[in-house]
Amino acid sequence: MKDLVAVWVSAHWQEHDIGPDHPDIPGRVEACLRAVALSKVRQVQATRLATADELGWVHGPEFVQRILASRGTWDAIDHETLLGPGSVLAALGAAGCALDLVEQVVRGEIVRGVALTRPPGHHAERERASGYCIFNNVALAARAAQRLGARRIAIVDLDVHHGNGTEDVFREDPEVLVIDLHQRGLFPEETGKWGASLDGFGGSVPVPLAAGCGIREYLTVLEEVATPILRRHAPDVILVSLGFDAHVGDPLGGMKLETEDFGVLAGWAVDMAEEMCGGRLAMFLEGGYALEAVEESMGAVLGALLVTRQVP
Ligand SMILES: [Zn+2]
Repeated sequence: MKDLVAVWVSAHWQEHDIGPDHPDIPGRVEACLRAVALSKVRQVQATRLATADELGWVHGPEFVQRILASRGTWDAIDHETLLGPGSVLAALGAAGCALDLVEQVVRGEIVRGVALTRPPGHHAERERASGYCIFNNVALAARAAQRLGARRIAIVDLDVHHGNGTEDVFREDPEVLVIDLHQRGLFPEETGKWGASLDGFGGSVPVPLAAGCGIREYLTVLEEVATPILRRHAPDVILVSLGFDAHVGDPLGGMKLETEDFGVLAGWAVDMAEEMCGGRLAMFLEGGYALEAVEESMGAVLGALLVTRQVP
């Protein structure tokens, strides 16, 4: 019997080590893997590295070459987006495992899954790495899905920060809808304000929320704003930027989601995918910096993904 759910992790995720004082420590993926080990979900170790051609689906050639030239050295894109000697390998591996996951989902080899992408991706713009992100993993997955025949894609970004990179990549693309719930006033500040396209046929729908929101507010937005827009877009696959930094215990975010609430959010995504696109759902790790919260919230997500919904 085929697996319903699987979790992908790159063989190279530990190579991205930019010091214990940086919030993006390898322990974040270790925490996720502990949750996977406690679940019934199959773990797949991916050895694939995204190629320069594949990265070119999302990023400009000069940007890609500038990052690849940093392989094996220390480099600072900005004061908080740092590359250690193994970081480019890890970034290529993260993008590669995102591609592996979305290809399996679109081809129907699994129904839904998670890629433990690290470094994360949703702040990476076409021409700029930022906010701990090097290559935009979820954007790359969306382009891969399109190349495999998925016409319309929906990306739902649940990280506490606005996914400015994903918005930048798909700004002009009517077939990729980006709905982004995030805390107002956090990094990157200048993007994510309310009032972008709401026509439901592609475009970006940033939903800035005040600090202190909990699951009641998240569900209200998902049910009253996101769900009708998703229905009008009628995606062939749903991708989720999965950040755990809206957890009440996270040191960077100011939201009040509890551990079990991440299972509720994942359950909503499963329901949307079942209703609209044969269940096809792929999630990509973004932020989340309180290790215990990451582990337990990941466990809640996996529990929701494992629930068998009624597939028509
Ligand atoms: Zn974040």
